Amino acid sequence: MSGPLLGDLELRGRVAVVTGGGRGIGRAVSERLAAAGAHVVLTWSRGEEAAQEVVAQVAASGGSAEARRLDVRDGAEVEAFFEAVERDHKRIDVLVNNAGVVRDGLLVSLREDEWLEVLQTNLLGTARCLRAVARPMMLQRRGAVVNLSSIAAQHPNRGQPNYAASKGGVEALTRQAAVELARKNVRVNAVAPGVIETEMSERVRAEAGDEIKKRILLRRFGRPEEVASLVHFLASDAAAFVTGQVWTVDGGMGLG
Ligand code: NAD
Repeated sequence: MSGPLLGDLELRGRVAVVTGGGRGIGRAVSERLAAAGAHVVLTWSRGEEAAQEVVAQVAASGGSAEARRLDVRDGAEVEAFFEAVERDHKRIDVLVNNAGVVRDGLLVSLREDEWLEVLQTNLLGTARCLRAVARPMMLQRRGAVVNLSSIAAQHPNRGQPNYAASKGGVEALTRQAAVELARKNVRVNAVAPGVIETEMSERVRAEAGDEIKKRILLRRFGRPEEVASLVHFLASDAAAFVTGQVWTVDGGMGLG
C-alpha cells in the first residue's frame, strides 16, 4: 500500500500474528498489515525460505516483520508459540487464522486421514490459535481476530466435504468466539473468499477456470491482495463495531 494511511486503518504499535503467512493470501495479508504499521509475526510450517523472503520484502518497504515456525496441528506447539510471542512483544493485537489445506475427494471415497488432516488444520488449528490469544487479548481489553473461511462453507462443491465441513465449523466458531469475547472488546470475524489466485486453487482453475469465471459477476478470479484489504479493515479500528460476521469476497460468485 502506498501513501499515508488514514486514521482508523492505522496499525502502528500493534502486533499481528498471521498463520501460514509465507505465501498466497497469508503473504498478502502479512504485507498489508505491515504496510499499515503493525509488527507482523508470520508463521511457516514448511518452506522457511518463502517466509523469510516475505520478511525481507516487508523490511525493504519500511515495515517490520519476523517469521517463526508453527504447525497449527500441534496443540503444544501452538501454546508455546503464542507464549513466546507474548513474552517477546508484551502484546498480541491481531490474529489472522489463515493456515489451511485442501484434500479433495468425493464423500464416498475420502479417506479417514484426508478428513483428519483438513479438520486438524483448518478447524482445530483455528480453534487452538483462537484459544491461545483469547486471554491476552481480553486482558488488554482489545483484540481482533480474522478467520479464513471459504465460500465452500455455504455453497457446496462436489468433492469438498471435508473442506466445506471444516470451513462451516470455522464460521460457527467465529460466531461462538465473538459472543464469548465481546465483553472484553475482542472482536472475531471471518472472511470467506471465492476463487483466489494462489497455489491452493491452481488445480481447479486449470481444470475448470472458464466455467467458473462464467459464474462470477466480475468475470475473473480474485487476487490475494483483494482478500488482504478486507482482512486489514476487519483487523483495524475502522471495524470497531463489527463482530461475529462472515464477510464474502468472491467477485459476486453465483450471481453471474
Ligand atoms: P496456500 O496453500 O497458498 O497457503 C496456505 C498456507 O497455510 C501456507 O502458508 C501453508 O504453509 C499454511 N499451512 C498449511 N498447513 C499448515 C499447518 N499445519 N500449520 C501451519 N500452517 C499451515 O493457500 P491460500 O489460498 O493462500 O489459502 C489461505 C487460506 O485461505 C486458507 O485457509 C484457505 O482455505 C482459504 N481460502 C483460499 C481460497 C483460494 O481460492 N485460494 C478460497 C477460499 C478460502
